[in-house]
Amino acid sequence: MSPDGTVSSLPDTTLDQLKSIVGENGFIDNATDATAYLTDWRGQYRGTCALVLRPNTTEQVSNIVKICAEHKITVVPQGGNTGMNGGATPAVDSNAVLLCLGRMNKIRKLDTLNYTATVEAGCILQTIQDIADEEGRLFPLSLGAEGSCQIGGNLATNAGGVSVLRYGNMRDLVLGLEVVLPSGEIWNGLRSLRKDNTGYDLKHLFIGSEGTLGIITAATLKLFPKPKSYQTCFAAINGLDEVVELLARARQVSGDRVSSFEMITRPPLDFALKHGPNLTEPLSEPSDIYGLIEIASSDPTDESLEQFLERGFEDGLITDAIIAQSEGQRSALWKLREYLPEGEKEEGASIKHDISVPVSSIPAFVRKAIPAVTDYMAKIRPVYFGHVGDGNLHFNFAKPTDMADDEFFTHKDAINHIVLDLVAEFEGSISAEHGIGQLKRDSFLHYTPNLDINLMRQLKAALDPHGIMNPGKLL
Ligand SMILES: Cc1cc2nc3c(=O)[nH]c(=O)nc-3n(C[C@H](O)[C@H](O)[C@H](O)COP(=O)(O)OP(=O)(O)OC[C@H]3O[C@@H](n4cnc5c(N)ncnc54)[C@H](O)[C@@H]3O)c2cc1C
Repeated sequence: MSPDGTVSSLPDTTLDQLKSIVGENGFIDNATDATAYLTDWRGQYRGTCALVLRPNTTEQVSNIVKICAEHKITVVPQGGNTGMNGGATPAVDSNAVLLCLGRMNKIRKLDTLNYTATVEAGCILQTIQDIADEEGRLFPLSLGAEGSCQIGGNLATNAGGVSVLRYGNMRDLVLGLEVVLPSGEIWNGLRSLRKDNTGYDLKHLFIGSEGTLGIITAATLKLFPKPKSYQTCFAAINGLDEVVELLARARQVSGDRVSSFEMITRPPLDFALKHGPNLTEPLSEPSDIYGLIEIASSDPTDESLEQFLERGFEDGLITDAIIAQSEGQRSALWKLREYLPEGEKEEGASIKHDISVPVSSIPAFVRKAIPAVTDYMAKIRPVYFGHVGDGNLHFNFAKPTDMADDEFFTHKDAINHIVLDLVAEFEGSISAEHGIGQLKRDSFLHYTPNLDINLMRQLKAALDPHGIMNPGKLL
């Protein structure tokens, strides 16, 4: 099946076997209903598959994978399909089984004393946040797609988001996993221990593996005490050096309780204000660079943000700022941040990079990379923002307003080269949080040392000797 309605297929007997595992409500075998599953969020990739399967138990996943292993049928796992790199979209000529985990959405156990939740892979991230919140706990992973991405996808991409500075990325938030291996065997690594030094830590193999080593079916997640107060501000900052200086100060003054430090530059904010519903200019005068800064505290009277802002004004680092006075104001400021990817998408074609460099190198990197790209294409529009607290920038470029999309994309490789060579020069990462998928596979192979790639290929061959798991992604 493909989005344009053409049919690619496996033998009827195999299809029937697979369908019978999941029952009537668990499969899609017509192109119309399958379309949404065969295109990615950014609309960059369109794939084909033989069948969409929507199992609702680990045993069903295991039985499906056993049949696929026997017949060497490829398997593409898919969660909420919000990934940025086409990792969940099958290839254009694929006969894969597209395995969607959305019906595996049970909370298996909530242990508030152990500060853990054991959940199935298809749980929506926001549902887990809400369930933890109701029990006075916090599950801190937070990102713009949290209303539709799934915890299995978050694990498979080692998702980051806006709270990494304080709580770490997905890898840091997991104690155990359950995984269906490429053989169909179920690996039960669902431990809920904070100390366990018994050999290799196998769960880490699957986190960030983008569905190439197995299907994650459940996870035991770490919960945290729910903060009693959030102090949130939107500040106009004088320049890039000042952003980095303010970040260091905020960490110091708050005793490292900064939960988010997001940098927003003017062009993506303009796109969000232009395209987003009910978004308003946060400060009276426009500025080139802003910080959305949040301190999470267990003390409701904590005033460290105000002190930090006062010093920032005195020292000329900040020119204007607003502190959220209510939960409504706080959420309005966050809506601006969350709408940036959508606003950019609505503005039109752009060439995107999700990069990281050491925090202290951000100003020098930006000062070198922007002119390097604008020297190449004068009217290109730099659109960068991101999780500056983690050294992670979404370092994107919107097409010149008078250039056609097709023409713009003929420059994609050249622009990628300019940016990623500089990322390498600054000892950064070409993919800070979105993973590799199909989009960055060639860059990944180019910029990663041979020994790293060889070790990864050996691991892949050991776990998935027939290469059935999400082929063409990552490696
Ligand atoms: C508006 C917006 C904002 C975003 N902001 C952020 C952000 O701040 N930080 C960030 O890190 N990402 C961000 N993303 C990207 C995306 O949301 C994350 O990558 C997310 O973790 C993907 O989850 P998903 O369930 O949608 O996975 P999918 O897109 O369905 O899949 C992603 C990859 O994981 C694999 N996979 C999915 N489920 C499983 C499973 N159960 N077992 C094995 N493999 C599996 C797929 O094969 C694919 O390779 C954003 C996306 C959008 C649209």
